[in-house]
Amino acid sequence: MYDLAIIGGGPAGVSAAINAGILNKSFIWFSSGESSKKVERAELIKNYPALPDITGKDLANAFKNHTKSLGIEPVNEIITGVYPLGGNFLLLAGNKEFEAKSVILCLGVETQKPVDGEERLLGRGVSYCATCDGFLYKGKKIAVYCTDRRFESEIEFLCSVADKAFVTPLYKNSEIKADNAEIILKTPVKFVGEERLTAVDYGNKQVEVDGVFILKSAFSPTTLVHGLKVEDGHVLVNRKMETNIKGIFAAGDCTGRPYQYIKAAGEGNVAAHSAIEYLSTL
Ligand SMILES: Cc1cc2nc3c(=O)[nH]c(=O)nc-3n(C[C@H](O)[C@H](O)[C@H](O)COP(=O)(O)OP(=O)(O)OC[C@H]3O[C@@H](n4cnc5c(N)ncnc54)[C@H](O)[C@@H]3O)c2cc1C
Repeated sequence: MYDLAIIGGGPAGVSAAINAGILNKSFIWFSSGESSKKVERAELIKNYPALPDITGKDLANAFKNHTKSLGIEPVNEIITGVYPLGGNFLLLAGNKEFEAKSVILCLGVETQKPVDGEERLLGRGVSYCATCDGFLYKGKKIAVYCTDRRFESEIEFLCSVADKAFVTPLYKNSEIKADNAEIILKTPVKFVGEERLTAVDYGNKQVEVDGVFILKSAFSPTTLVHGLKVEDGHVLVNRKMETNIKGIFAAGDCTGRPYQYIKAAGEGNVAAHSAIEYLSTL
């Protein structure tokens, strides 16, 4: 059991992790990938104090060197769910489980909106985890919808289990090796079904399937944490970065505009301090 779990490897997560580390808390820090693509991809950053005209790559390296110097390394896992558990929180990363007394969400903003029916049919034919749920679809028909090349081995695993797979890779130059995969280059518009998923609607056609796998590296905050209050897609927080759920804090782009590195880092700092204050009351 950790005191604190930090989810997200952008400036907000980096800052929360640095502060939790300095304040000597037992914490675990999750990041999908080594660092935030939104940091790495910036050509030239002109508004980060003390680092004028720094490239995104250099800023990402500076973040990495800073955390490394404190002995802090992110765990490369994508958290697929956060659930209250007797006053603490259970975090799922596929079929791995972690427990923490408090959580800081530093998720960034998801550009990909959830598909109509995604949240309603989650666990009833809609899955985020190939390794946990893949075997349920042995010999069946599935659809796979994937936003990131890094999941290609998981797509191939799912194809090896299923009888037939309709695969939508939402990235360029996919190299999926599976004879039973039919590529559909259209984003699903709706997951169809009442009690369970029965079909995927691609706008111009519907295919009947037993299950759909969504392989992506970021989730909307409400998909991740049920009952979290949001406004215009952003997590509602107060000045202490507290959410409506006791013990869960949020920082960075996921709490709202302006989307900026220094705002994310500042909020990560506040969230870490508030989480530590919360822990002292337990
Ligand atoms: C091209 C570009 C240029 C920019 N230039 C500037 C600039 O010059 N100045 C400026 O101030 N801002 C700039 N920005 C904005 C800046 O990138 C963001 O405001 C900042 O990165 C937000 O930090 P964050 O930590 O909130 O989120 P992010 O940087 O988006 O990081 C969130 C991280 O969390 C990970 N994550 C999400 N969900 C999960 C999960 N469930 N499990 C594990 N990990 C998860 C994501 O994969 C991501 O790595 C730019 C953005 C872009 C795209």
